[in-house]
Order: sequence, then structure tokens, then C-alpha cells
Amino acid sequence: MGATGGMADQDFDLFVIGGGSGGVRAARIAAGHGARVALAEADRYGGTCVIRGCVPKKLLVYASRFAEDFSDAAGFGWTVDTPRFNWPSLIAAKDREIARLEGLYQNTLKNAGVTLFSERATLSGPETIRLESSDQEIRAKKILIATGGIPFVDPELDGRDNVITSDEAFHLESLPERVVIVGGGYIAVEFAGIFNGLGAETTIVYRGDKILRGFDEDLRDALTEAYHTRGIRILSDHTIPKVEATSDGKRVHVDNGTVLEADVVMYATGRVPNVKGLGLVALGIECGWNGHVVVDEEFRSSVPSIYAVGDVTDRPQLTPVAIRDGHAFADREFAGMMRDIDYEMVPTAVFSTPEIGTVGLPEHLAVERAHALDVYISRFRPMRVILAGRDERAMMKLIVDRESQRVIGCHVFGPDAAEIVQIAAIAMRMEATKADFDRTMALHPSAAEELVTMRSKRPEPAHNERD
Ligand SMILES: Cc1cc2nc3c(=O)[nH]c(=O)nc-3n(C[C@H](O)[C@H](O)[C@H](O)COP(=O)(O)OP(=O)(O)OC[C@H]3O[C@@H](n4cnc5c(N)ncnc54)[C@H](O)[C@@H]3O)c2cc1C
Repeated sequence: MGATGGMADQDFDLFVIGGGSGGVRAARIAAGHGARVALAEADRYGGTCVIRGCVPKKLLVYASRFAEDFSDAAGFGWTVDTPRFNWPSLIAAKDREIARLEGLYQNTLKNAGVTLFSERATLSGPETIRLESSDQEIRAKKILIATGGIPFVDPELDGRDNVITSDEAFHLESLPERVVIVGGGYIAVEFAGIFNGLGAETTIVYRGDKILRGFDEDLRDALTEAYHTRGIRILSDHTIPKVEATSDGKRVHVDNGTVLEADVVMYATGRVPNVKGLGLVALGIECGWNGHVVVDEEFRSSVPSIYAVGDVTDRPQLTPVAIRDGHAFADREFAGMMRDIDYEMVPTAVFSTPEIGTVGLPEHLAVERAHALDVYISRFRPMRVILAGRDERAMMKLIVDRESQRVIGCHVFGPDAAEIVQIAAIAMRMEATKADFDRTMALHPSAAEELVTMRSKRPEPAHNERD
């Protein structure tokens, strides 16, 4: 689809605000369908995932796991002289990789024929965008808001300036010796694993009763126990009224009177949609409880020419979801192709060490949906840890709908959990039953073979007895 006659040069069929996971995909696909597309990015191309999210996080996770590899190696006959770690080298290597990826993202857009504006954009009308630095107004028939999310820290916190978020954690000048992480979600526990693995004294302070709210209880318990064994201190059911700066670090005041000394205090207390100053209110765009843009199943906001995808909406805040939504939006609007997106069977990982992979329903949600369940759990020591002399256990759990025998939840805790669950997700997407899992030949020796060799149901817990 091209521009209609009479449009000025600066007019577009689609203007995308935000060059992150969702925006880049939508812009590229729409341009591929022949639309005239522009995209504004205020910071760096690639967005949260590439610049300050999934990618740098995973690189830091890899770095943090070498400590264990070195000590495990001794059990396999290796002598490893005292390994030394250099934080600035890691950060420099990580930054080089991110610069490379950023370049790839920018090239993808340019090669697709997308006009790029490297500056902040806001909405000035249902079909107009204001570019802040170059002070221009651009017209577009459709506008896609893909501005993502930003970390949330309670503005009332006494000492707000003394804490950092994940954004800054990627750029610390040196590895802190003592870290306090506030929060119990996946970003909090991932960073706790990173700092602990790299040798920092790490404490998690969380206001809930147990880390990883919303995940299957057995996963939450398994990670809590493993973190305890690894020396990560978890203070649950606590809040922090105040964080002070001292001459040699920070002082964290916990609500029970405990005082923690730290070099770095990182808040991972959730993320909010990045919509401040965007112009949503003036246009009367309907926003949800935390400011997210309310969209229908076609990603359309309450103003018909304005759409939104990714973390700025209330869909699962994951890169593959933002990408899939951006792609579906572009296909629908610029090629008339309809795509059906399944938000139920979204596989996801927590890159803690040991890691978590999960897809489908956690047990408490399966029960809430009134399923009678057969639950299979296997806890075992992975082969490698035995010679390494560690006592860590892996866990695999399958939740099976008793009536249909379909596997509706798969939860894995242990090495390579993310890799295992991605593949289990295909089977579950195809509505595999427990019998299908059992009919599958085991791949031996592997950890994943436990998923196809679980024979005995867990004894009935109380919630199944009424069924
Ligand atoms: C520490 C961390 C770890 C994560 N790990 C994972 C993971 O392991 N797996 C996973 O799937 N997801 C992970 N995520 C989540 C993932 O990063 C997001 O879900 C994803 O990036 C959302 O994509 P998006 O396109 O909605 O927004 P973003 O990627 O946030 O992109 C939005 C872009 O818009 C730009 N922008 C904002 N406002 C304007 C404006 N007014 N004008 C111009 N540009 C603007 C921003 O600069 C940004 O580049 C992680 C997130 C964090 C913070």
C-alpha cells in the first residue's frame, strides 16, 4: 500500500513511536507490505530487551555461572588455579555485543525502507506526531505506540536517590561487594543470582511471603531453598521505609528495625508503561489502572487511528509477545492477514541459577479453573552435580487435566530449564496428553527425559478431594 496522491513527503501510512521489540517488528513488516513507514526512537534502537533487558541480563547470567563451573570442574579431575573475575571487562564485552545488535536493528529498519527519526516523539493529534528535538510535525494515517515500560520505584521512598534499578545495574563501575535487591519478581531473583554467582554478598528484601508470586508453588519453594543453600539471604514479608547514603555505601532500614549495609541497593519492584508526556490524555485515549494503553484484539486504542503493542499494553510483558503482537498488527492493517495469538501457552523462563522454565498453568491456577488434576513431580540430582559434590536437586512437574488427560502445565527447575520448556511448549500447544509424553522415547542420559518417564501420580492434596 503506498501513500495516496497529494500527501506531502513527510506523510506516512504508519508512524511507530518506539524502536524496541514490538515497534521494530511492526515497522519492518508494514514496510514489507508496501506501507510508507516512519519510526521514532528516543534512545537506542532495540529497546529494553536488547539494550537493558533480556540480552545483557543473559550475558551477565552466563558470566555469573562460571564460578560454579570452575568449582565443579575439580570433581571431574581438573585443577583450576584461583579464577579471577574482572567486572569492567565483562561490562565492556557486553556493551560491544549490544552495540553490534543495535546496529543490526537499525540496519534492518533502514533496509526495509523505514524512515528513522532518532528523537523523542509525542502525539499531537489523532493523525499527527510531534518530533521534539527537530521540532517538526508529521502526519500519518495510523500511529502505533510501542514505547514499552520503565522500572517503577515508589516515589514516596525516603532516599529514592540512593537506589538504582536494573537500568543502572548494567553499568555499575565495579562489582559491588554487598548488594540489597528489593522485590521478589523475576528480575529481582535473576539479579540476585548474578550478583551471588559473581561473589557479592546478596540479600533480597521482599514485601510478599515468598519470591516469584504467580509461579507454581513448587518452583517458588525450590528456588527459595536453592538460594538459601547458595547463601542468598531472603527477607520476606518486609518493606523498606528508608535508604540512607553513608560515607562508604548505603544503609537500608528494614521495617522490623534491621539495618543492612550495602554498596548497591537495587529496586526491582515492577515496571510501568512508558507513557508520561506522550499526549494520551489530551487525545482522550483510554488508559488502564497503571497507565497502560487499553487496546482491543486488533491492538486499536479508543482513538481509531492509534494502536499500541508490547509492554505499553496489558499483554504479557515479554519480548516474544511484543514481537508477535507487532507482527500481527502490521499483517492485519497493511496486508489484511488475520493472526490468532495464543496468550495462554506462553513459555517463559526465570534465569536464576538454577533456572526455571514454565509453560501453561501453575497448579493453583489449574485448581482455580476447576480442573480435577493428576500431578506428577520428579525431584532428582542432575548427573553433573553428583561428581561435583553438590547436593542440589532439579525438579520437574507436569499438571494433567484428569478428564482430558491433556498436559496443561509443565514446570522445570534446574539446569537448562528454559531450553527444555521451549520444546515441551510445542507438544502442549498441540494438545499432547500425558500418554503422548509417555509414548515418546526417552533421550538418555539427559535431564529432560524425566518429562517422559514420570509414572506415579503425586498423592492427592486436599484440593483434589472434593472432585
Ligand atoms: C531486566 C529485564 C530483563 C528482561 N528479561 C526478559 C527475558 O528474559 N525475556 C523476555 O521475553 N522479556 C524480558 N524482558 C522484558 C522485555 O524486555 C520487554 O517485554 C520488551 O522489551 C517489550 O518490548 P516493547 O517493544 O514493548 O518495548 P521496549 O523494548 O521497551 O521498547 C520501547 C522503546 O520505545 C522508546 N521510546 C519510549 N518513548 C518514546 C518516545 N516518546 N519517542 C520515541 N521513542 C520512545 C524507548 O527508548 C524504547 O527503546 C526483560 C526486561 C527487563 C527490564
